[in-house]
Amino acid sequence: MTKPAARRTAAAALMLAPALAPACAAAQPAHDRAARASWSAPAARPGHGAFRPGASGLGDPYYPSAGNGGYDVSHYDIALTYRPRDHGLAATTRITATATQDLSAFDLDFAGNRIGSVTVDGASAAYRRSGQELVVTPKKGLPKGAAFTVAVTYAGRPQTSKDPDLGRTGWIPTRDGVATLSQPFGSATWFPLNDHPADKATFAYRITVPKGLAVVANGEPGGTERHGSATTFRWSSDRPMAGYLAMIAIGRFAVLDGHTPGGVRSVSAYDPAVPGDVKGLQRITGEVTDWARGLFGPYPFASTGGVVDDESVGYALETQNRPTYPGGVTRVLAVHELAHQWFGDSVSIRQWKDIWLNEGFATYAEWLWHERHGGASAAYTFRQAYERVPGDPVWKIRPADPGRAHLFDYFPVYLRGAMTLHALRTAVGDRAFFAILRGWAGQHAYGNAGTADFVRYAEQVSGKRLGGLFQAWLSTPAKPPMPARLG
Ligand SMILES: [Zn+2]
Repeated sequence: MTKPAARRTAAAALMLAPALAPACAAAQPAHDRAARASWSAPAARPGHGAFRPGASGLGDPYYPSAGNGGYDVSHYDIALTYRPRDHGLAATTRITATATQDLSAFDLDFAGNRIGSVTVDGASAAYRRSGQELVVTPKKGLPKGAAFTVAVTYAGRPQTSKDPDLGRTGWIPTRDGVATLSQPFGSATWFPLNDHPADKATFAYRITVPKGLAVVANGEPGGTERHGSATTFRWSSDRPMAGYLAMIAIGRFAVLDGHTPGGVRSVSAYDPAVPGDVKGLQRITGEVTDWARGLFGPYPFASTGGVVDDESVGYALETQNRPTYPGGVTRVLAVHELAHQWFGDSVSIRQWKDIWLNEGFATYAEWLWHERHGGASAAYTFRQAYERVPGDPVWKIRPADPGRAHLFDYFPVYLRGAMTLHALRTAVGDRAFFAILRGWAGQHAYGNAGTADFVRYAEQVSGKRLGGLFQAWLSTPAKPPMPARLG
């Protein structure tokens, strides 16, 4: 993610550093605050062992009720009709999942909208809502290991989440349609899901809009069908994706479907009301995607691209395959969001406190871009950031555990995260450092990884003991010593 204040070159951002430390940054999603009604498990069914409800959360220390336990989603199929009159929707989301315990009931994360029906394997299921938890009780228990499909039919005008620092998340009305930007928990405003990056799944969308509007989404386009004055756009992705990266953009768009100069399919969309054009977006996307492949390894998805929507979306986000940019794009912004395709989207965090593995890497990619395109060296950018006096309270926030209120703070997470990578580079040298970046993206492609995994991997590749360096840079609430080459 790049917040508006961070949407500048790294050097400019550094000069403005004091303004980039908002007092409290992170979204505090309603579902996390919602008190969860206590309830007792239904009695075990004879012959089925102890069928119990799945947990209402995945145990993330910052957001204990985010995501749900007892099952693992493999696929979301979202069929949605957009209603321009009030930016509303009518939809059915089908979720294919596997029970990871004997399940008597399970939760989905879902906010707002009116539910018409819930079925499990085609049979209607009982449900009730408790804050952002949708509790589903199927007619029969689901044995551990069983695949099942839950379908939720709903309609309404999704409630956009608003955060004083991050801006709007979830279903965001634009001048001519809707965009979805959902980090960390906006997706539950427009479809029911297991809302935690630890449960990644493939996606298919069938989005129906009135004539004149177009739809862009994650994955690759699967063609359109006309029904009278409406058109259904199909998009799908067969690579796993964290729920917060799910993106549909509805509106008037100029669309280009081509390839980067290096041969990666690239699909971009541009709101014609915004200065600039889709050709420029494709050119920047191609340049940056190919440059990043040279550094980070094979592009992890079947297509790249971008969406430029009007500035009312507020901030850029690394929505999978094609980042969303508000009101235009610059190369450096594209570098940040496209670097996330490797770091954040393909390799996803295990828990939200690992967020520096996304933002520190995307920010360091900006430094590398400048360094390799005639701008400031990464060493210079590092020194600019490192100049902050030791007593400055921003050093107290630890990148590997910034606290929920500081999850998206620019200095401790983005800049100190990037400084950590530069400290690693200084300690192990360029050859080992770039092997670590590339190998990390490959080793954990399409999966999840945390800070401890990264420390282990960096030690393994470099053959050096790096515990002290990472302890100082990631887990100590003080300014770390200037890094030096390790012998
Ligand atoms: Zn970012």
